[in-house]
Amino acid sequence: MPDPSDAVGRPLARVGRRGKHLLLDFGGDGDEGAEAHLTFVVHLMQGGRLVPDEKLSRKPRFGIARWRFADSPALLLTEAGTERKAGVWVIAGDPDGQIPLAKLGPDADMVTEARFAEVLGEKNQRVHGFLRDQHGVAGIGRMLANEICHRARLSPFAMTAKLTDDQVAALYASMGHAIDDALTNERTLDAMSKSADRPGAVHRRSGEVCPVCGDTVRAVEYRSYEVDYCPTCQTDGKVLADNTTSKFLK
Ligand SMILES: [Zn+2]
Repeated sequence: MPDPSDAVGRPLARVGRRGKHLLLDFGGDGDEGAEAHLTFVVHLMQGGRLVPDEKLSRKPRFGIARWRFADSPALLLTEAGTERKAGVWVIAGDPDGQIPLAKLGPDADMVTEARFAEVLGEKNQRVHGFLRDQHGVAGIGRMLANEICHRARLSPFAMTAKLTDDQVAALYASMGHAIDDALTNERTLDAMSKSADRPGAVHRRSGEVCPVCGDTVRAVEYRSYEVDYCPTCQTDGKVLADNTTSKFLK
C-alpha cells in the first residue's frame, strides 16, 4: 500500500463511490494517466461518518483519519461506537480491480436490467444473500435487501437461478425504487441517518403490521443481522423456519 503522505501536495480531484466505498481521488494536474492517481478508499460500515472539520482539534472525538486542505475545511473520518470496522485503504493507479474493490459486482444503481438478470443466474443462491453479498451487485445492505424483497413480493429465501422473468423484472424495479426512496429521504437530512431511523416497511419491524397487507412482519434472526419479511406479501403466508431453532430440528 502506498504511503498516505504521498497525497501531500496533490489536489482532491474527485469524490466518487463504488459499492459501499467512498473514493477520494487525489489525481495530479489532469494530464497524467491512471497510474498517477492516488485514491483513498473509505468504508464507513455502520458507525463511520465523513464530516467537514473546522476545529482541527488535536484529538478529535471518534477520529480515525483526517485530510487537511490548503483552501477549504478538513475532512474528518469518525467512527462512533465500539465496532471499529470502518476502514481506509490507499491505492495507487485505477482502484477498480484492486482490494478492497476487486470482487465487487456492478453497482446496484447503475446495472442494466439485462446485466442484472445475467449476474442473478450465475450462482444459485438466496435472493437476500445475493443482494447483500456485494459480488452479485454492489452497494446494497441489510436494510435495502429486506425492503427490496418485500417490494418485489419475493421470499428472501427464493433461489436466484429459479426466478421467473417476471420475478427478475420485479426484483430489478424494486431495487431501483428502494434505492431512490432511500436517497430521497437521506437528502432531506442535514447529516447521514442512522440505519434504525431509516423509513421502511419490514426492516427491523418484526411484530409490527405490514403497511401493504396488514399481516404481521416476521424475522429470521442470524447472529449479526436479521431477515425481515411479510408472509402474506412474500411467502404465500408461510412462516420461514427460524435459523437458530431449525438446526435442532434437522
Ligand atoms: Zn404484507
